[in-house]
Amino acid sequence: MTEFSNNPYYDLFSKQSLNQFAIGNRSYKERLNTLNKLQKAIEVTYRTQIQEALQKDLGKPVVETELTEIYAIIGDLKYTKKHLHQWMRKQNVETPLSLLGSSSYITYEPKGVCLIISPWNFPFNLTFGPLISAIAAGNTAIIKPSEMTPNSADLMAKIVSDIFAEDEVAVLQGDVEVSTQLLKLPFNHIFFTGSPKVGKIVMEAASKHLASVTLELGGKSPTIVDKTANIDKAAKKIMWAKFLNCGQICVSPDYVLIDDSVKAEFITSCKKWLQTFYNDQAKSSDSYGKIVTDKHFERLSAYLDNAKSLQATIEVGGQTDSASKYIEPTIISDLKPEAIVLEEEIFGPILPIVTYKSLDMAITYINSKPRPLALYIYSKSKSNTNKILNSTRAGGTCINNSVLHYANHNLPFGGVNNSGIGKSHGFYGFKAFSNERAVMKQHTFGVTELLFPPYTNMKEKLAR
Ligand code: NAD
Repeated sequence: MTEFSNNPYYDLFSKQSLNQFAIGNRSYKERLNTLNKLQKAIEVTYRTQIQEALQKDLGKPVVETELTEIYAIIGDLKYTKKHLHQWMRKQNVETPLSLLGSSSYITYEPKGVCLIISPWNFPFNLTFGPLISAIAAGNTAIIKPSEMTPNSADLMAKIVSDIFAEDEVAVLQGDVEVSTQLLKLPFNHIFFTGSPKVGKIVMEAASKHLASVTLELGGKSPTIVDKTANIDKAAKKIMWAKFLNCGQICVSPDYVLIDDSVKAEFITSCKKWLQTFYNDQAKSSDSYGKIVTDKHFERLSAYLDNAKSLQATIEVGGQTDSASKYIEPTIISDLKPEAIVLEEEIFGPILPIVTYKSLDMAITYINSKPRPLALYIYSKSKSNTNKILNSTRAGGTCINNSVLHYANHNLPFGGVNNSGIGKSHGFYGFKAFSNERAVMKQHTFGVTELLFPPYTNMKEKLAR
């Protein structure tokens, strides 16, 4: 009997635990083989089913699925496969003179049994992304996908059971009850993607066993548009980034901070681009999705009601339809500071516009809130851009674009404090799932012989 015997998932956990060294000691070629199997499943075998599942769960247009889920995962797999051999190599490091006679290196060894808890907004990308890093680094993994996108969760369970034995990778479906039980087990690493609120619960649970964590969280990502920016281009890119996946993206521009003098021009351009993107008919557009659940639809509708009750100006949109969980792309301005859309992460297709009279005011506003996952700067001024970069902190930044820093595997992805702990993607993801083991090897006689007593006068002199 152990303290975990009554845990419904302990049996599975134990199987993975017993198997971890066999998996961890697999060669580069064997790991590559596993990654190839996953690639074939996503790229060929299940491609159409992934599109269908996302259509059912999120009304996701096929092109969006291809770009933000399938292409993203395949890109990640290709990048990982290209670099894995180098990442797995032991890394020799210099040895100081004081340790003469020895050599030192770092090995990236697997952490062991890992837990991956994922959200619903990009169910495949945000589940298989961390899984790619986990298996590249030689770990076993239990995955708990979000219950909010059940068709996607079912399909991921099928894909995983096609490729892996359960003592290597397994999917457990369910809601908070399942997560809560899983979080009681002594995982070696927990990779959580979701809200800051649940991130705190995960971190607290991890602390019981001192499991390491990667927390990929969310928050309010600001977008600054200064008066030197190309306003029309900024509006186009912001409209795309904001209303992609109906704003249900962790790095979505949460709100726009704009120089007062260019606000009217910006809103005119936004209207133009929205009309171009969705032909003024977002509801029937094949390029626009829906809100994931009734609960989230109600949450977002309440944000709109709250803004209206505070006499905000609805610049664009504002229409909703509960039956189809539709919320029109909406832009709001003239908001009072207490408006909920200025306080909580929106995670939906509502864009508040806040004006500023000086860049310092914009910076002060950003720094009055928790540190964001992303911060976007639209500006032609180098000094303004540098001033913003030097006076704020954020997980990542795009200059004169939004969201796309996520797509560069050479960059670490993750937040800072409230928006996350640790980084993912590419080598940074591999590192998150690896223990950097420090190894020092003593060869023949070395200076370290001087460490041993008796401490003669000569040794004392040498030590000084
Ligand atoms: P969430 O935190 O509600 O849920 C995420 C996962 O945690 C789900 O699998 C859910 O079942 C589980 N969960 C929920 N409550 C739990 C609890 N009390 N204990 C343990 N597990 C629990 O988040 P969500 O609604 O799925 O996703 C939206 C949030 O995720 C937003 O804040 C968004 O910014 C963030 N997010 C971050 C990233 C990133 O990469 N940084 C990516 C996508 C989403």
